[in-house]
Amino acid sequence: MKYAIRTLGCKVNQFETQAIEKLLRARGHAPTEGGDADVVIVNTCAVTAESGRKSRQAVRRLLSDNPGAVAAVCGCYSQLSPEDAEALGAEVVYGSGDRMAFVDAVERAAAERQRERKIDDPFRRLTLEPLPAGPMEGRTRAYMKIEDGCDNFCAYCIIPYARGRVRSMPLADAAAEATRLQAEGFLEIVVSGIEISSYGKDFQNGAGLADAIAAIAGAAPRCRVRLGSLEPTVVTPDFCRRLAELGNVCPHFHLSLQSGCDRTLAAMRRKYDCDGFRRAVNALRETFPGCALTADLITGFPGETEADFESTLAFLREIGFAAMHVFPYSVRPGTRAAGMPDQLPRAVKEARARRAQAVADELEDAYLRAQLGETRSVLFETEQDGLWQGHSENYCLVRAEGEDLHGLIRNVKIIGLEGKNLVGLTL
Ligand code: SF4
Repeated sequence: MKYAIRTLGCKVNQFETQAIEKLLRARGHAPTEGGDADVVIVNTCAVTAESGRKSRQAVRRLLSDNPGAVAAVCGCYSQLSPEDAEALGAEVVYGSGDRMAFVDAVERAAAERQRERKIDDPFRRLTLEPLPAGPMEGRTRAYMKIEDGCDNFCAYCIIPYARGRVRSMPLADAAAEATRLQAEGFLEIVVSGIEISSYGKDFQNGAGLADAIAAIAGAAPRCRVRLGSLEPTVVTPDFCRRLAELGNVCPHFHLSLQSGCDRTLAAMRRKYDCDGFRRAVNALRETFPGCALTADLITGFPGETEADFESTLAFLREIGFAAMHVFPYSVRPGTRAAGMPDQLPRAVKEARARRAQAVADELEDAYLRAQLGETRSVLFETEQDGLWQGHSENYCLVRAEGEDLHGLIRNVKIIGLEGKNLVGLTL
């Protein structure tokens, strides 16, 4: 069977798609982009109304590019709106769980045109489905999903309804997976999940994210370990000290900020205020001097005044983020925020996003300039225009000349900056 597959949304969805592909390939099925797929698969996203629209569009486009193919849909959007997925012509409709059964259903549908819809109640999922970890971009970095679900119920977010409660990978499994990835030759493991800061909540044995990172870093000492998005509440001085002691944790931390204004953070039902965020940043900078701090930001949340937004901009400058993802607030039906008064016009939300992005770009430039003259350890991934490029331990994109550097870690002296890329000399 030939298949064509598309993924929308977050790193976890991308991880799950590579796991689905791994399972399909192991059963002898092959990918195609030639318009001759027997099955088209879309792993959908529901994080915003726009993601839902793009998910529907991906199904339509794949079906028109591959006439006669069976359409199979899974992910957060089809979990929440299975009828919509069926109305698009999908014959296999699964949600955000049970990927193994999804692959079985895809095979059945391709062989017998057997329709199947299986949407469970995500709040009844009690354990993490084990899925094969593997490469995401190129073959240098491997992603490991150690957790699924979220119990935080932030006002703007639909994810807890699509993914259910926190379920974590047992520590022994995390260690075994890390050992395997190191043996396969990966040099970097990216630890991901829907809300990894809540890792271990479901075990109730005291194990937390620092224990999971210690298990992974200890089992794969030749790999560097990069952490996915963190909630500031998990970042305590003790957490930072434990990570630093491991010796192979990357000095790059992505913190979920969302707003730099206490009033807006409270309305968003985030579990910290600016002061708490500041404490997390100070703890990280004391333990990992010069580390890259990156963040997500939402502009134009319901009720956000111009003064609130100005205080967010001041907060961005105070922290000095190395890079940011800025999103204008987008209404997600079914969330608390969708029913809030004082929804802002789209033009205001987008104008604020542009202003925040301009500040973020300035800060990014300052962080990149501070790398000039430094030596960084770069994991090279791809070759482009005669130069090799890869990411430093602090997640800057670095380009350098060299023989075949693919999949190698090299010390690089940073000598220049071109746009957002650092240029270096391999030592
Ligand atoms: S922490 Fe908040 S934003 Fe993140 S997945 Fe959970 S509910 Fe959504």
